[in-house]
Amino acid sequence: MDWLIAMMLVFQSLTSAADTQAKAEAELLRQAIALEASYYAEPAQAERLMEEPMVLLPSTVDQGDALLVRSRSGGEVAWQGRSYPLQEFGAGYFTLLPVPTDTKPGTYPLTDGHGSAVLTVKTKAFDTDRLTVTQEQESMWQNTDRINADQKKIDLARSKSEPRFLYREPFVKPVNGRLTTPYGYTRYVNGVFNSIHRAVDLAAPTGTPVKAANSGKVVLAEELYLTGNSIYIDHGMHLFSQYAHLSKLSVRTGDTVTAGQVIGEVGSTGFSTGPHLHFTFWIGNTATNPDRFFDKTPFRWQNK
Ligand SMILES: [Zn+2]
Repeated sequence: MDWLIAMMLVFQSLTSAADTQAKAEAELLRQAIALEASYYAEPAQAERLMEEPMVLLPSTVDQGDALLVRSRSGGEVAWQGRSYPLQEFGAGYFTLLPVPTDTKPGTYPLTDGHGSAVLTVKTKAFDTDRLTVTQEQESMWQNTDRINADQKKIDLARSKSEPRFLYREPFVKPVNGRLTTPYGYTRYVNGVFNSIHRAVDLAAPTGTPVKAANSGKVVLAEELYLTGNSIYIDHGMHLFSQYAHLSKLSVRTGDTVTAGQVIGEVGSTGFSTGPHLHFTFWIGNTATNPDRFFDKTPFRWQNK
């Protein structure tokens, strides 16, 4: 064989190996882009967002809301004295940031170390809620041993989360009840400041089925002192939904649930004045307004 032909054959086999690898990598990237794109409202928006070094969904929020950060390069975002690692998903890196009700209104520059974006927090007016309860009910708040023991369990359940989004479909309301106490209300019990109500109370008859707000994994399902029969579901990426005061639990810790699946029944267990569902979302250990989630996912959050 002529040496030139031999060299050409060697070269051809080398380039075809490199070609195969490049093709495999391109295919993986194509799949990652398609997966992520399927989360946005429309393909054109997906394409536009994926070109940005760093995107905030949305970039303008109210006190009590949350936002999804999308980064092209990964890293972490410093926010309110904490560091939020960006987790790889699809063709980018993501983290959810809570904006507590007491966040000072204004503009906040955020960065992942490469890209940057500015978050605007707007003032939201929160009303007051006055509850009158029996002395026996009021005295429940003095049992700090039980309250603190429950808090440890809850913190442990929320300390780990699946490092991916466990949902794609919009979040659903767990109960179609009457809204009796909205999110963020300052609550007084028998005339004394008690807490900021970081949940929505949805009144419905005892026994009304309670549905999982979205797909996820049950990380706690048991009777607690103040919140009665309680469920926490991990939806991945440190997002959890909480259901309280149930008359019946139909799931166990460790169960996998799908959006709309019945997980229990409305009740009035724990510190409660009547049958209702106390429902909220948590990002890690910070509660966030559920109103932004219903009929949406964070990928579809937009500026108001
Ligand atoms: Zn409540």
